[in-house]
Amino acid sequence: MPDKILLLPDNIANQIAAGEVIQRPASAVKELLENAVDAGATEIKLIIQDAGKSLIQVIDNGSGMSETDARMCFERHATSKIRNIEDLFHIRTMGFRGEALASIAAVAQVELKSKKAEDVTGIYIEVENSVVRKQEPVAAPTGTSIAMKNLFFNVPARRNFLKSNAAELRHIIDEFTRVALSFPGIFFSLTSNGQQLFHFEAGSLKQRIVQLLGNNYNAKLVTVREETDYMNIYGFVGKPEASKKTRGDQYFFVNNRFIKSPYLNHAVMNAYQEMIPPDSFPLYVLFIDLDPAVVDVNVHPTKQEIKFEDEKIIYAFVQAAVKHALAQFSITPTLDFDLDASIQQLASVQQPFTEEKKSAAASGSIYKGFTQKHQAHFIEKSDLRPWKDIYGTGSGTSPVESGEGTPGNLHPSPATHYLPPADTELTQLLNSYITVPSAYGFLLIHQQSAHERVVYEQLKAASKDKPVAAQRSMFPATLEMIPADAAVMEEIMDDLKLLGYLIEPFGKNTFVIQATPADVEPGNEKHIIDVLLEQYKHFSSEVKFSRREKLVRSLARQQSIKTGVRLTEREMRQLVTDLFACEQPNATPDGNPTFLEFKREQLERMFGK
Ligand code: ADP
Ligand code: MG
Repeated sequence: MPDKILLLPDNIANQIAAGEVIQRPASAVKELLENAVDAGATEIKLIIQDAGKSLIQVIDNGSGMSETDARMCFERHATSKIRNIEDLFHIRTMGFRGEALASIAAVAQVELKSKKAEDVTGIYIEVENSVVRKQEPVAAPTGTSIAMKNLFFNVPARRNFLKSNAAELRHIIDEFTRVALSFPGIFFSLTSNGQQLFHFEAGSLKQRIVQLLGNNYNAKLVTVREETDYMNIYGFVGKPEASKKTRGDQYFFVNNRFIKSPYLNHAVMNAYQEMIPPDSFPLYVLFIDLDPAVVDVNVHPTKQEIKFEDEKIIYAFVQAAVKHALAQFSITPTLDFDLDASIQQLASVQQPFTEEKKSAAASGSIYKGFTQKHQAHFIEKSDLRPWKDIYGTGSGTSPVESGEGTPGNLHPSPATHYLPPADTELTQLLNSYITVPSAYGFLLIHQQSAHERVVYEQLKAASKDKPVAAQRSMFPATLEMIPADAAVMEEIMDDLKLLGYLIEPFGKNTFVIQATPADVEPGNEKHIIDVLLEQYKHFSSEVKFSRREKLVRSLARQQSIKTGVRLTEREMRQLVTDLFACEQPNATPDGNPTFLEFKREQLERMFGK
């Protein structure tokens, strides 16, 4: 038998290796953009043709390369970013494996133009199939331009494997977006088939997010920022009303590298619990920075997973940071900041995580970062007490300490038994607010927002279990509508019926209101339906809730007592009682506070006492 093992020729070995780094046009885009970032560019332009299949070009104004470096950069394992294995644990650049350009040169026709600031002339190099075809001096601006043409021209099997232009362009835009988000201080543009798709001026992270998602997001972003010795988190999360029905604008970056982490995503979702409908997705752009030594960066560059030395700490940190941010924006006291009890008990939270690291940890890092007051999961409870504390009935114990809470679900239970005593004095101010004394000061309740919450929860229960009691009209009103509204009405008729409105079609674009909820004043039906339709349409464009959810929200908003309406003592008491019987009394369905708490202490301080 003859021996069977052969050494693969270089070009085939290169092509195989290249396949792992460059799977599709978008992977080349990512590598080239990252190289430009690593080169310190402040302006990076991406130009593509045919979704990158015929051309991907990246032009930067970064450091540029010398003649020797320009030739070297296409060699496998040629990198200027690490020198030895130790460097891997301190890596701060995006690349470090020296594989990208070698891979690109193995599967495309590449033209490189580069010049360093201190050089007079630049260098031009053409490479094809890993072989240098041409090299000559060239006049060029400082920086680098790399054009790769006809990706996979020499690997037809791979070329055929590429998806439609629309799909490949989608992937390119995703990569472009991630890099552009993680470096808002750099100008980026993307031109596809001669048309400029993105033009991002350098600016702050918030500006970059707004450039990407649209101006209307400006007011919908909440800042997240927590710092500890172990790790920092920075970025923005969307207010609850900016949530969407489809996953999409959710980004995590670890040390500026985009990652996909269902685990950390879960931490964020957890922080939004009860603030958004269960089937919707909040917006977030979060940057976690930590010592590269505790992250496994040695995972493959095309993989977006990451390994942390202690995942649970990071989970807890992310969750607490997001909750904190959301609470500050909504200024509501009920959010509960205690960590999941199982996380609290982790050895790594309570003490240094290994014996060896004890001394290091004691002088900084995890231990200090996570045991100090004011750190993310030790956000002071005094600002964030559960309900019963407000009325002083719980003698200051939170559900966690008294063992009432179920770990992982520490939301306050319905607050009926924490109601203010019957003789508590209630006052209406400006025909809009109700003051209620509390154990530590007083609550200022916003009557309209509070009532909106109450009606919302009542309708929500009604639509699920039993329909709202309806009352037949003696003289049913007819509604004539424009075709667009008629279509909306057709869509919501069935759900409206559950909510007490029996509306039936009556010829083209016309409807009859057969019955309304018992408390609707006769003669007012038409107006109510008009306003309801408007609100429903407003929600339709704003947030993609379920139809039922949109209706319930519209009705709640519409039926709530408005500000400016004088309330009797009895009405006030009813409202306060109903509010505290709610499952989530602290905010309106779209996240505005229903009340604020003013503590005596705060007041005294404001008066300089
Ligand atoms: P890596 O980024 O992992 O080092 P690459 O194959 O992507 O490997 O690049 C090889 C080397 O070529 C880099 O280390 C860098 O020195 C140089 N290089 C690549 N792109 C650029 C660029 N746009 N500007 C300056 N130098 C570059
Ligand atoms: Mg690189």
